[in-house]
Amino acid sequence: MTTTEQWTKSSWKAFPALQQPNWPDQVAVDKVLAELSTLPPLVFAGEIRSLKALLAKAVKGEAFLLQGGDCSENFSQVTAPKIRETLKVLLQMAVTLTYAGGVPVIKVGRIAGQFAKPRSADTETIDGLTLPSYRGDMVNSPEPTAAARLPNPKRMLKGYNMAAATLNLLRAFTRGGFAALHRVQAWNQEFVAQSPMGRSYERMASQIDRAIQFMETIGISMDTPQITQAQLFTSHEALLLGYEEALTRVDSTSGGWYDCSAHLLWIGERTRQLDGAHVEFLSGVLNPIGVKVGPTYELDDIKRLIDKLNPDNEPGRLTLITRFGLKNIERVLPPLLREMKREGHNIVWSCDPMHANTYTSTSGHKTRNFNDILAEVTCFFETHWAEGTIPGGVHFELTGDNVTECIGGARDILDDDLDRNYLTTCDPRLNAEQSLEVAFQIAEMIRS
Ligand code: PEP
Ligand code: MN
Repeated sequence: MTTTEQWTKSSWKAFPALQQPNWPDQVAVDKVLAELSTLPPLVFAGEIRSLKALLAKAVKGEAFLLQGGDCSENFSQVTAPKIRETLKVLLQMAVTLTYAGGVPVIKVGRIAGQFAKPRSADTETIDGLTLPSYRGDMVNSPEPTAAARLPNPKRMLKGYNMAAATLNLLRAFTRGGFAALHRVQAWNQEFVAQSPMGRSYERMASQIDRAIQFMETIGISMDTPQITQAQLFTSHEALLLGYEEALTRVDSTSGGWYDCSAHLLWIGERTRQLDGAHVEFLSGVLNPIGVKVGPTYELDDIKRLIDKLNPDNEPGRLTLITRFGLKNIERVLPPLLREMKREGHNIVWSCDPMHANTYTSTSGHKTRNFNDILAEVTCFFETHWAEGTIPGGVHFELTGDNVTECIGGARDILDDDLDRNYLTTCDPRLNAEQSLEVAFQIAEMIRS
């Protein structure tokens, strides 16, 4: 049986779906999903196709993917300053990487819908109390009480509305002049002036300044959309399949099905079973999709996944987001690259240096070390260069806030500092400075 013949937006229901909430009342869930399916799409098919076309360029090294944002967005953080600061960091990183790489940077936020989380266990015990695990704001609330942790389907409606409000502001910021190249570069200069490592980034920042001045000098208009506007795409893990199905719509232009909850959807490391509901669902929508690949992957599984998710080998359709960890990447990335190259698969290779470098610090915080993150990214680039494959992108958990969640960086955040501003409800994020440092370091590496 070929799945494409049989795919419908509900065909996933015949497959086991891992990581779904234990909703207490299915009737209430169905009511919410029925309502969601009547609401307007959040993004439209034309935009999704543009992203796919850009990603097709990233397969060949003619564009570079920068994906980043919260591990888990929170409803309480859907505020103008928070959205603005995350956008600012992504734009700043993108300018730096564009200059260094000499190719357009495709900006994709983990934003406007990243509200559902896979967890390692259904329950957790806090102070002797066993509670359902927090599964993201679209499911339940992180406070450690039984009432807060009870999954509530109305949260999916709220999630939709929060995603719509976020996207609305992002569209306003990116189109309305906020994202103009001059401003973004001025923010970078501020960062360089303030960072303890500033001196080492100064050279690149002033080179970028000179490039902009040069364009002005020779009379290139600074008033064109290419200079005054930016394009930010949205993404999240497609985890709650009922929600994703409700936002899946047929495109009147092409007749194809698109999941209009975001431009790019990805399948997590925990839900990428070949015969699982998540793979089935995403196999039939035409969006670009990502698949996380962890260090224990089986080569045959990956091949079968690719056959199911991208049977026509369409460039831009599939991004493999490798998250191997510093300890494993050198061992497990080369065989994967070799085999995919040998078979001629069109893949955007993206590096998530966050998810396999997580550990619990002495102070008891879930954290990541800046040096491990940077080292995994470095090894990712070097391995691709050695194998003759294309490093197509990077994937970070980051925020524009001044949080203390990851150890290290130019301010040298220590274990004892983590408590100061540890705000994440899920995984530790790079703060604004740490994110820009990573971007400048990658930029230096690409250029040298
Ligand atoms: C995530 O991206 O937040 C995540 C859970 O990643 P992974 O599926 O790679 O563990
Ligand atoms: Mn995470």
